[in-house]
Amino acid sequence: MFGRRFPLFRLFGFQVRADAGWLLIASLVAWSLAVGAFPALAPGLAAWVYWVMGIGGALGLFASILLHEASHAAVARRYGLETRFITLWIFGGIAETVSEPPSAPVELRVAIAGPLCSFAIAGVAFVLGVSLDLLGVPLAVTALLVYLAWMNFILAVFNLLPGFPLDGGRVLRALLWQAQGDLYTATRRATRVGQAIGLLLLAAGVFTAIRGNLLGGLWWILIGSFLRRAADSSMQQMEIQLVLEGVPVHRIMDRAPLVVSPATTLDRFVQDYAYAKGRMRYPVATAEELLGYVDVADVREIPREQWGERSVASVVHPPAASAVIDPDANGAEALRRMIASDVTSLLVASDQRLEGVISLDDLVRVLGVKSALEGNTRLAALRASQLRR
Ligand SMILES: [Zn+2]
Repeated sequence: MFGRRFPLFRLFGFQVRADAGWLLIASLVAWSLAVGAFPALAPGLAAWVYWVMGIGGALGLFASILLHEASHAAVARRYGLETRFITLWIFGGIAETVSEPPSAPVELRVAIAGPLCSFAIAGVAFVLGVSLDLLGVPLAVTALLVYLAWMNFILAVFNLLPGFPLDGGRVLRALLWQAQGDLYTATRRATRVGQAIGLLLLAAGVFTAIRGNLLGGLWWILIGSFLRRAADSSMQQMEIQLVLEGVPVHRIMDRAPLVVSPATTLDRFVQDYAYAKGRMRYPVATAEELLGYVDVADVREIPREQWGERSVASVVHPPAASAVIDPDANGAEALRRMIASDVTSLLVASDQRLEGVISLDDLVRVLGVKSALEGNTRLAALRASQLRR
């Protein structure tokens, strides 16, 4: 259910993807609308009409969730925060920004944009539904609009619950951050509320299930436990950031990385570097100057019979800003850059001179040592794959 994500399309310049489990949920929604909600809301119509309405309702809900997330992403973009993906999954959508908001007012605006958009859609759909009904438009259309109004209203209200990382929790965090000037404490408090709300939803789910509504209860149990886990991992991310911000890159990087000379043939590169070290990316440099890096994936694109003649210089990537970091930058910045460009290592250089290589594993090691010293078992259990999420 939390598996593969596949790209759908671009919306306002944001890449929209869907979790594989989402398709299942979308079909379930269409089905439950067609056989349950719409026959109750608009009785006396033909079965096929309910199916058309059900599919329309599911698509409308999908569009509503997308617009909600796109509003977050659009406001974030106005403040220079890039959104990597808008992902649809079983509990709605997520707009993932590359970095944290720079200040409390920005966080507040980004957080509130989604619920405001949902309230607006609810208002428009409701007014449209009621007026079209007065004009004599068929019930099938107006009932669908009223349903969408109701769903958007619920979407806005649920997201405004004040538990982090829900939108309301982000608003709460921004207010606490503004009042106390401390992002860490604000996050801790807002995530505690998030965990408490998760627990309440869980309890409500169990209660609902015991009273006989098994499916409804199960749904709340799922949402409650998801919220608890999300709150927990938000706090963990905050702790990771805090630890890594205190560590300069030059202190944890590999100071003597394996450097490839530009004259090396691809044959030799594959044998002596790629297979021997098992890394994906190697710096290419002469004694004086950093030329860039070579990726194992690029070599694969070149026909094998040419590996003997062609040199690494012919496939070298220039040291772009996204692949290089300053030795005085901190670990949190390194992690942000790795996530943003979806890589596991960066070249460390100043003034075109290679000083080392920093990898995701270096960052994980720092977190491990730090947590061992402080007895923080949550950070100690981290793995590189978890950092990249
Ligand atoms: Zn939202």
